[in-house]
Amino acid sequence: MNDQSPKTWEARADAATFYGFTDLPTVKARGAVVLTHGKGPYIYDVHGREYLDANSGLWNMVAGFDHPGLIAAAQEQYARFPGYHAFFGRISDQAVMLAETLVEVSPFETGKVFFTNSGSEANDTMVKMLWFLWASEGQPQRRKILTRWNAYHGVTAVSASMTGKPYNSVFGLPLPGFIHLTCPHYWREGREGESEEQFTQRMAQELEDTIAREGADTIAGFFAEPVQGAGGVIVPSQGYFQAVAPILKRHGIPLIADEVICGFGRTGNTWGCETFGFVPDAIISSKNLTAGFFPMGAVILGPELSDRLQRASEAIEEFPHGFTASGHPVGCAIALKAIDVVMNDGLAENVRRLTPRFQAGLAKLAEHPHIGEWRGVGFMAALEAVADKATKRPFDSKLSVSERIANASTDEGLICRPLGQSIVLAPPFILTEAQMDEMFAKLGRALDRVFAEVA
Ligand SMILES: *Cc1c(COP(=O)(O)O)cnc(C)c1O
Repeated sequence: MNDQSPKTWEARADAATFYGFTDLPTVKARGAVVLTHGKGPYIYDVHGREYLDANSGLWNMVAGFDHPGLIAAAQEQYARFPGYHAFFGRISDQAVMLAETLVEVSPFETGKVFFTNSGSEANDTMVKMLWFLWASEGQPQRRKILTRWNAYHGVTAVSASMTGKPYNSVFGLPLPGFIHLTCPHYWREGREGESEEQFTQRMAQELEDTIAREGADTIAGFFAEPVQGAGGVIVPSQGYFQAVAPILKRHGIPLIADEVICGFGRTGNTWGCETFGFVPDAIISSKNLTAGFFPMGAVILGPELSDRLQRASEAIEEFPHGFTASGHPVGCAIALKAIDVVMNDGLAENVRRLTPRFQAGLAKLAEHPHIGEWRGVGFMAALEAVADKATKRPFDSKLSVSERIANASTDEGLICRPLGQSIVLAPPFILTEAQMDEMFAKLGRALDRVFAEVA
């Protein structure tokens, strides 16, 4: 089959692919957007239409869609050594250099890195590490995993069990032993008359109560995104991590920061845990790690977990885990370049510089009577649509308001993402002031159109 086919690209996409995380009525009505290439923060479809991608692909294409340095890094490494594994004591020089770099830029004095191909696999790997570690230390019953509602940790059976979204019930997930605490979203979860400080205290008390109920000696670890990304850009309530971290520490429960979205600049610092002032026991990285130019994930272990895992592995002579493409030399070469580009080529700097303009634009749109709140940090934000601003009452879900806003945006030449009743913006770090203004102008027109229809 080739271009001789009389069928449209949209029809061919429908016929040949099985869509994931895709609103099928929208695709049925509008057809998939079939893309051919990108330039800076713009992408182009088979009809030559241009879209400003205000989501950086899926949070990850932070350097845009044609970065010459990243393309050259990939080409050079493909020519030099196009693939190898990291099993049996063999490992590429690129993987060694990337591991060193990740520890160096991490909040840890010392540490060790384990490579995967995705964020889901990195979370899965971390859970297996914890199960292995506790069993090796004589506490095999210590297997429960604590996360929060609205968390997104991935889609493999274990990482989907960690994810706190109702859609996973169709798979009979979560698996037993995956416990979800309240999402620390003060605007939505705060009670009548409760201050933000009291709310944070209630979240801490819930953790304390959960540990007491389940028994600390049954809990393997606590995983948290510094800002919940796919949950709708939920910035934790003031002091949240300062309240929960000491409780976890007192009970010997490792705190794992899932930095798949926050890591490498999204919140304005290298790590989300830096932005929110806490030091985890390990970091999960992916997405921005390669600026989206290669599928790759990493578990970055702090000093204590590194030592404990090393001892556990030596006791049985190996850590029996790894993926064929873990530490792929091309992925590692790209990641080395991506980290350099984000940290040293002005990308992280651009996020910090334009964050006030970004937030001013969001605040302006949030004046709309049907935007309940804007929330965010750095270059990640959400605007939440409400039927009634005073009571925060959402629109009838049958109206699919956020889907309609996203579709109206697509018509305007803007890619943004509907998430629950919110619209998520996570622009690439290369965005210019003019492009940011273009993004808000297009989104503003889309909001006006949809709210005129539904309100
Ligand atoms: C995207 C994401 C994951 C999963 O990463 P995949 O590469 O899609 O498997 C895990 N955690 C967070 C916070 C994410 O945003």
